[in-house]
Amino acid sequence: MIKLHNIRKSYRVGGLSVEAVRDVSLTVHKGEIFGIIGHSGAGKSTLLRCVNLLEKPTSGTVTVGDMELTGLSEGQLQRQRRRIGMIFQHFNLLSMSTVRDNIAFPLTLAKLSKAEINKRVDELLKLVQLEQHADKYPAQLSGGQKQRVGIARALANNPDVLLCDEATSALDPQTTNSILSLLLDINAKLGITILLITHEMNVIRSICDRVAVIDKGEIVEMGDVLHVFLKP
Ligand code: ADP
Ligand code: ADP
Repeated sequence: MIKLHNIRKSYRVGGLSVEAVRDVSLTVHKGEIFGIIGHSGAGKSTLLRCVNLLEKPTSGTVTVGDMELTGLSEGQLQRQRRRIGMIFQHFNLLSMSTVRDNIAFPLTLAKLSKAEINKRVDELLKLVQLEQHADKYPAQLSGGQKQRVGIARALANNPDVLLCDEATSALDPQTTNSILSLLLDINAKLGITILLITHEMNVIRSICDRVAVIDKGEIVEMGDVLHVFLKP
């Protein structure tokens, strides 16, 4: 479902070139939950953002489904991005909009009718169990509830793939577990492929099928979670 081939990404910093990702190739199969773990600065976020081309790889190719994203025009890319949802460590919600409007946002961009949007938002509110909170603003929600809004928004356009950027790193252990079970549930129910990055071993152990370890921009180990890390 996701194929990264020889991905490199360097940033120019004051005349110097910093190689954040060096020659990474990996394949995530349909329906899989794949985790990338590494220390801060290892290149996780850069690599994840290369998948939906929020970062343009310096070289290499990205294929999602049967579509090679590298090489698409900006317009084509925008359409393909609807097939890729993303959630963030700090949720990235619109603070001046209600829960309902945050979730509706990508549907509005996709130009659905008002009736279609309302129906879809109701389904999503139910999926993430926020029916009672639809008219609240992000500041009135707990961290876990904010991430549920993020998940509903990411799933609004029925994507094939969900990218998770340290999605539980700002949450306490109990809330982390409830978000991880929601991700498992979504993976099982909707068959959505999940690619996540984390620095927390617990996240990998709890929900991932396979894992890659990244260090200094390179994949240093990859395999079934059971084989790479012994379960507790
Ligand atoms: P991680 O997500 O594992 O913490 P990042 O992908 O954020 O790692 O960063 C990898 C490396 O790339 C780090 O050395 C970081 O300083 C550098 N880097 C990340 N983003 C930028 C940027 N926009 N400009 C310059 N350097 C960056
Ligand atoms: P994290 O803390 O999870 O690393 P950041 O706060 O660094 O996330 O945000 C990642 C980047 O994603 C930001 O630079 C922001 O511009 C961008 N971004 C914010 N909201 C969205 C969104 N809904 N879809 C895509 N990109 C977004």
